[in-house]
Amino acid sequence: TTLSAPPLDILLEEIVREHRPRKETGAVPGNIPVLAAVPFNRFGIAVATTSGKVFSSGDADVPFSIQSISKVFTLAMALQRGRSGLLWSRVLREPSGTAFNSLVQLEAEHGIPRNPFINAGALVVTDHLMEETPDAAAHLLQFLTRQAGTGGQTGQEGGPAPFIDEAAAAGELAGSSRNLALAHFLKDFGNLTQPAAAVVENYVRQCSIMMTCVQLAKAGLFLANDGQGAPGAVLSPSEAKRIGSIMLTCGMYDAAGEFAYRVGLPGKSGVGGGILVIVPGQCAICVWSPRLDAKGNSLAGTAALADLSDRTGWSVF
Ligand code: GLU
Repeated sequence: TTLSAPPLDILLEEIVREHRPRKETGAVPGNIPVLAAVPFNRFGIAVATTSGKVFSSGDADVPFSIQSISKVFTLAMALQRGRSGLLWSRVLREPSGTAFNSLVQLEAEHGIPRNPFINAGALVVTDHLMEETPDAAAHLLQFLTRQAGTGGQTGQEGGPAPFIDEAAAAGELAGSSRNLALAHFLKDFGNLTQPAAAVVENYVRQCSIMMTCVQLAKAGLFLANDGQGAPGAVLSPSEAKRIGSIMLTCGMYDAAGEFAYRVGLPGKSGVGGGILVIVPGQCAICVWSPRLDAKGNSLAGTAALADLSDRTGWSVF
């Protein structure tokens, strides 16, 4: 940290005070009815350090819908213990520059999604996991619960254990024409082994996992810690590094460049308003505030992370 920065717990309180109030109304995702009902002034932030401490402020113990942040963890599970198999022949590792749920590129590129963090790529990863474990969403929930349960903490901790919000999943599934279209498209190109509807159902349930900022920061810590999680190694150091690289280039929808410019750290956002950020060797950060910008990233969350990175000197550059 830079010498002028106050202690982290004080700094996080300042960040909450400064970034919770917002003038812009922002957007909420149109395809997930329950997310529109979350109070717009919610704001939480948590930092889990590689030395085993957790700092948090604001609504850091309030569960929220992790949505696309789940894509980081399904990718980690797919890479674990040499399970990647044919995965990297089925999905690329390039930024898409198009919306997260775009169909256009998928046709132009013969059913091979640009990266594992856009919806088409995430559907391929979920399909890959389902080949081994049909209820991949439940398996992901177990993984997250185990990772979130580790480490000492100095911040307050509370809130229920991670769970799947089945009502939110059902609500999203009822309007999943676009994700179903992507899945059928993948299937038509021979890039889906399970039935399209089953993959979309699993995917939507994985997105509907509810976690707090504190839990997500702890669950993501292995990515900042050379792959070391709870208990022991989740990934090798080089696999953890590679997930960080994909987060930096592809983690923020078609605003990855802008986020790298403003924050300078690998991150993954979700339309629930959460953002998970990795400071390699130091900590994992989760910020949550539900109102989104036009690209689908949390307005207050992005601003708060830019501020935090400037004030602490945390950056990969
Ligand atoms: N379940 C959401 C969808 O597929 C996730 C979107 C997101 O967080 O990017 O539309």
